[in-house]
Amino acid sequence: MNFKNYFFFRIFVNRSLHLENIKFYGFDMDYTLAEYKSPQYEKLGFDLVKQYMVSIGYPQEILEFVYDPTFAVRGLWFDSLYGNLLKVDAYGNILVCVHGFEFLKHSRVYELYPNKFITLDESRVYVLNTLFNLPETYLLACLVDFFTNSKDYNITDTGVKCGELLMSYKSIFQPEDPHKDWKTYFDIVVVDARKPLFFSEGTILRQIDTTTGQLRVGVHTGPLQNDQVYSGGSCDVFTKFIGAKGKDVLYVGDHIFGDILKSKKIRGWRTFLIIPELVRELHVWTDKCQLFNELQSLDVNLGEMYKAAIRDVTHKMDMAYGMMGSLFRSGSRQTFFSSQVVRYADLYAATHLNLLYYPFSYMFRAPAMLLPHESTVAHEQKFVTELVSQVEIPVEEEEEKRDKKVLERSQSQIPHVRPATPQSVTHDHDEDFSDDDSDDKTLSKTGEKLEGQSASELL
Ligand SMILES: [Mg+2]
Repeated sequence: MNFKNYFFFRIFVNRSLHLENIKFYGFDMDYTLAEYKSPQYEKLGFDLVKQYMVSIGYPQEILEFVYDPTFAVRGLWFDSLYGNLLKVDAYGNILVCVHGFEFLKHSRVYELYPNKFITLDESRVYVLNTLFNLPETYLLACLVDFFTNSKDYNITDTGVKCGELLMSYKSIFQPEDPHKDWKTYFDIVVVDARKPLFFSEGTILRQIDTTTGQLRVGVHTGPLQNDQVYSGGSCDVFTKFIGAKGKDVLYVGDHIFGDILKSKKIRGWRTFLIIPELVRELHVWTDKCQLFNELQSLDVNLGEMYKAAIRDVTHKMDMAYGMMGSLFRSGSRQTFFSSQVVRYADLYAATHLNLLYYPFSYMFRAPAMLLPHESTVAHEQKFVTELVSQVEIPVEEEEEKRDKKVLERSQSQIPHVRPATPQSVTHDHDEDFSDDDSDDKTLSKTGEKLEGQSASELL
């Protein structure tokens, strides 16, 4: 079986990565190593939060809400000013806007958000990035819907009123081998690392007493031992203890911000994002391929008469994923989440277990990314004739002239009058083969050799 064609087991590549260059593999725990049963887990969280809210004074009626896993998608923004859930593209353009359960019309979105645009202002916008946020996202929709439609409350732009009582949307928002010890799968275990803080200043590194689960008093000053569990610490201290440099580490996590964006931006680690939704996304991508093809041909023939058809196909496509559409796109527009995946995750897959299908020597190759001028103009396409007659580009002539140019240097002090075209390969064009890495490779190869030798000697 060619497992790479079996797409659920595949790892997808944004930037080329040679596993041979990786010396340390790091794993996040929640939703990366520990997968929660979905949607049972989200439903449990949803029900517990409902009960808690009633216990602190919210109306009994909210207990009647039933968790609907088809409603929310990860990566939505909650605008606490107007109480809307927004699906936005990479630049803050609003793709979908829903108030409670009501999808707002174009004209209303324009009224609330000039140019259908919003900036990521953290005092107002909360990004619902993680899978833990899914029940929260749905609960926000339920609460906004309840208060907006309840006859006891009057609607204002930024909240609801009941007599003298004002409730703003912002205030609504506040609220394997079973016998094998799990620690043996890892060289070093750190819990409560407080990412993303871990990647900047971090916290105090302490050791945990594994028999009592209590923290040991005082700062752990190293070294780190294999069978122990540590708490907190910082990336600086941790990497010094294990002797890792930036590109030695492949970090596997499910949190686009805390695991992937920060480790890439602050530390330059290689990154692998876990996206459990990929299983469903790939199902729709393959099962509904006729919709994608239809949309693509409509996009190409874009004109007034196609606009309604594009809306129609986009809607059908979105509904195939769930009420808020795909995690990665709305029609042919890509989401904010999608752009962060491309920018910060070198690799991504539905689960970390997919690493099992690739050998440690595997070279992940990123597919060539075509820009619009490359993807829409075929190599063999020629200029239209009138254009060519106006814009003559005598490339060959110019090259001939350059070749004929003879260097006259009777009085000149300039060593080169123009740069020479390199005749051989001068540098690697692939980011995973920097000079640094090739030095490391030679070293590690030598290291391997030595190890090999001593092993055979021992034998
Ligand atoms: Mg996690």
